[in-house]
Amino acid sequence: MELTVLEEEAVLLKQADAIAFIKLLQVVSLDDPVAKLDDAVLSHLRNPYQTGLEINSSAVQHGIATYFTVEHSSVNTYESIQQSAMHCLEGEATQIPSYYNYTGVESIEHDMCPGTCVAFMGPFADLTHYPICNTDHYNPIKLHTSGGQMHIAHQKFITIPLSAQLQALWPNGGVFDVFDDFCKGCEFLQAVQWGDIKPDDIVLMISLNGAQLYESKLSDCWTYIWKQYVLPGGFIPGPNKLKNMDSFLFPGLHHLAALQNEGLCIWDAWHNIVFISNSFLIFITADGPGLVYFDGMKGTYYYPALLIPHHYAVAGSNHPDISIYELHDPDLTEYFDNLLKLYCKL
Ligand SMILES: [Zn+2]
Repeated sequence: MELTVLEEEAVLLKQADAIAFIKLLQVVSLDDPVAKLDDAVLSHLRNPYQTGLEINSSAVQHGIATYFTVEHSSVNTYESIQQSAMHCLEGEATQIPSYYNYTGVESIEHDMCPGTCVAFMGPFADLTHYPICNTDHYNPIKLHTSGGQMHIAHQKFITIPLSAQLQALWPNGGVFDVFDDFCKGCEFLQAVQWGDIKPDDIVLMISLNGAQLYESKLSDCWTYIWKQYVLPGGFIPGPNKLKNMDSFLFPGLHHLAALQNEGLCIWDAWHNIVFISNSFLIFITADGPGLVYFDGMKGTYYYPALLIPHHYAVAGSNHPDISIYELHDPDLTEYFDNLLKLYCKL
């Protein structure tokens, strides 16, 4: 209902796009094509393995030793060593586990504008070119020479599905540590008290961060992670600024929304039980540059100031000191009214 009101008031294309993404997230499933989960992965998600990895051969031991030796290298490094050993040594070496065997985690690729404007998701999914920068979605030569059959994107970005990473956290009967001061906000505590958040559920925080890969080279890229432990969420190549972060976060948020809809099936190896865990996203965080994408500000950093500086008198922003003990609780109605004012003013 409130979303419909905002949709009617939206005057900017950016506002309409944001609402389109929110509406798409309201009806999602792990079976959706955008999730890009094949039948085997879906089957594993809904019916997790209930047997542990047997370390009963020198091939598996060799694989594990190699895995830890190259843990700071790329996946390709491990895969190359595994392939080489299987090719050169034959015999038992063919049983060296693949990288996927350890984690069950595979990355998913989606198309994006090579100028890092948008990901071709949601309202942009069917665009053959992005009109703002006029860049083609697909390689025009391959598209033309194949008679319109080969849709090869110019560039892709990576999303790491959260579900398999969460399932892998329960090899020893639940590995989440207790963070005593993790969160004591009344909304969180009430949700626990009312039984909305149960002991087996997963509470997540998303963190979006920019990174410059090389000191003296234009090499900015973006990553986002899910926290309880640090679980990779996705990697977005740069170096340009992203024009629509929503489109790049969409696959990761779609996956989370689908998990929230159907619950995540987890095998607790220690207690040998299978249970359904629900996921909650309670904190949205980012570094300075990343924050402007979440709060929608225009590249300028604003910090809320509670205390008025000495000898300061600027009309409109010289309110007296504010005590944090007198801040009132968040109010949904007030938030929506403010949002509506913002939409109408733009
Ligand atoms: Zn572009």
